[in-house]
Amino acid sequence: MRKKQYRLERTHLNSLLKLLREEGYQTYGPVRGELAMEWAPLTDVGELPRGWTSAHGPAHYRLENRGGESLFGYRNGPESLKKFLHPPRARIMKAERNGGAFRILEDRPAAAKRAFLGVKPCDVAAVAALDRVLLNDRYSDDIYQANRAGLFLIAVHCTECAETCFCASSKAGPQAKTGFDIALHERLDGAMPEYFAECGTAAGAALLEKTGAPPAPPEWARELADACALAAGAQQRKVDFSSAAAVVERNYDSPRWDDIARRCMACGNCTQACPTCFCVNFEEHSSLDLQTAERHRVWDSCFTQNFTYIHGGSVRLSTKSRYRHWLGHKLARWQQQFGSPGCVGCGRCITWCPAGIDITAEFEWLKAGAPAAI
Ligand code: SF4
Ligand code: SF4
Repeated sequence: MRKKQYRLERTHLNSLLKLLREEGYQTYGPVRGELAMEWAPLTDVGELPRGWTSAHGPAHYRLENRGGESLFGYRNGPESLKKFLHPPRARIMKAERNGGAFRILEDRPAAAKRAFLGVKPCDVAAVAALDRVLLNDRYSDDIYQANRAGLFLIAVHCTECAETCFCASSKAGPQAKTGFDIALHERLDGAMPEYFAECGTAAGAALLEKTGAPPAPPEWARELADACALAAGAQQRKVDFSSAAAVVERNYDSPRWDDIARRCMACGNCTQACPTCFCVNFEEHSSLDLQTAERHRVWDSCFTQNFTYIHGGSVRLSTKSRYRHWLGHKLARWQQQFGSPGCVGCGRCITWCPAGIDITAEFEWLKAGAPAAI
């Protein structure tokens, strides 16, 4: 049976935010920060970056005001939902001295209900990728589980992509197909935008019904599919994920890794900005009076030397070995481990690499034995 589809105006979006807050959600949206788009608390759609977008390229990002009434013409900034679901720092244990012994204190992760308005399809897909690793693999991460249980996603399909996007290759976009509670398509052909809304879950359907919005014209679904197909066709960057395992395998000793290593600073920016990189390390802290101690989990990166430290040395000493590991894992070995790529094609690692190293260009070079034509 076809799901109900709605025609929303801006006031209906505010109703969605209000209804979500009444259900106990903290509501977030993309907001223009000083230098980049960021996720921030949102109580009114007037706080969305109306008329703003951004230009992207290797090691290049600029906010741009092109005017107009579009609320969702923004492109992803460096932040994804990873920082909310799998926070950069989390306390996982607390202990206190108790006479001659010590006591482990109850320290369960706090459950937060968070709703996000305006999530791009690649970031919806990134949540599904994190689910496969942190929820549905051999063990379930309790911090991620607590944050994930309270997540409500309102996606916005992409009908124009950044220069660095390649979500059509990973099948994560430009049209969001699954993983959202509600998906919106912003239509800009009138004086004011209208929104084509579809539900992805029962919770999304109930919320849309409560807004009192009228049904959408039936032709809007076809119009959305056509606009997203056009956007997909315009993407310059491509990765053939089906060949990734073979390409990585046969290029283990390629001189290309040495060439990359001469440019790569092993700064780890790519892994921090990546919405699916999940690696962590652990830190111990004790109070100055030695009465309490805490263990923290912090984001780490496979680009740091200490990441592979085991009793007396690191396994990956060279930058070459770290980049080779990272590219191979994102594009190929995730598929073997989890059944889908670890890359959703968001392009963040290209934009936020200070050396402008482009994973799609490097992969194409390895595949063809020559530079890619981007
Ligand atoms: S590897 Fe790069 S393009 Fe792929 S999901 Fe991570 S940041 Fe995005
Ligand atoms: S590829 Fe770029 S972002 Fe990643 S570690 Fe190297 S220099 Fe840093």
